Amino acid sequence: MEGTEKSFVSPAALSMRTLVEEFKKLPGISLKAAQKLSYSILCDPKMKNTLKKIIELSENVEICETCGAFKAAGAECANCASDSDIICVVATYGDMAAIERNGCFKGSFHILGGLIAPLENILPEDLKIKELRKRVENNPGKEVLLALPFSIEGDATALYIKDSLENCDVRISRIARGLPAGAAPDVLDRRTVLEAFNGKTYID
Ligand SMILES: [Zn+2]
Repeated sequence: MEGTEKSFVSPAALSMRTLVEEFKKLPGISLKAAQKLSYSILCDPKMKNTLKKIIELSENVEICETCGAFKAAGAECANCASDSDIICVVATYGDMAAIERNGCFKGSFHILGGLIAPLENILPEDLKIKELRKRVENNPGKEVLLALPFSIEGDATALYIKDSLENCDVRISRIARGLPAGAAPDVLDRRTVLEAFNGKTYID
């Protein structure tokens, strides 16, 4: 009978399919990688433990609503509580990690969560700019060091931040030009990033 035939999918195959779909939701995971991960999880008991550990760890860590940095779940944010004179503003967590790794800066960070890019529908209100102003208002006399890429988006974001911190008791600086256009700190080598930090300029 045409059209009434139903293809049978076993519960195991269905679980496998769902597992692949879930893995595919992770950034940077292709269908092929998702299938490979799913097979490993199901076939290798050690992988199940790895997965459990990942879940455990991710439940113990959360993102601070103010500064965008990671913090222990339910605990006070050490990055916000830092008495550093300078707040280093970066676009992403990767940028912060690169700056810390390169030893360019050891104070407090503020992670915007991206750069203003209207064409990609990323508007100032999508980033932690209001939160930055609040931090500056609560901690007068600090310096805000913008470690943003020198791209159209980076410049637009720097300008917007400068305007939004108007009338605040704060000095605003930006890391030196000389970085390749559009390059974020997380893709650059130590020397380049270090030079950019050493050659910062005040823009207020
Ligand atoms: Zn924080």
